[in-house]
Amino acid sequence: MLTEAQKSILRRKSDEDCFCHTCNAGFNHLGIARHRAMHRDNKENCKITFSKGDTYEYKYDTKNHSSK
Ligand SMILES: [Zn+2]
Repeated sequence: MLTEAQKSILRRKSDEDCFCHTCNAGFNHLGIARHRAMHRDNKENCKITFSKGDTYEYKYDTKNHSSK
């Protein structure tokens, strides 16, 4: 059974081969790095599936790192 991300990659148009679950949007492998940096700059968590199908969650929400 395919996840939405995998389905999105399979039916991708142009050269979109990565997927941001946070935005529900596809990106190409060059754009995804900048897109991830955008989330980091906004201190937003994001979850990204890369072209090989591997998924990573990035925790940029500093509120989760608690009590300093
Ligand atoms: Zn995103």
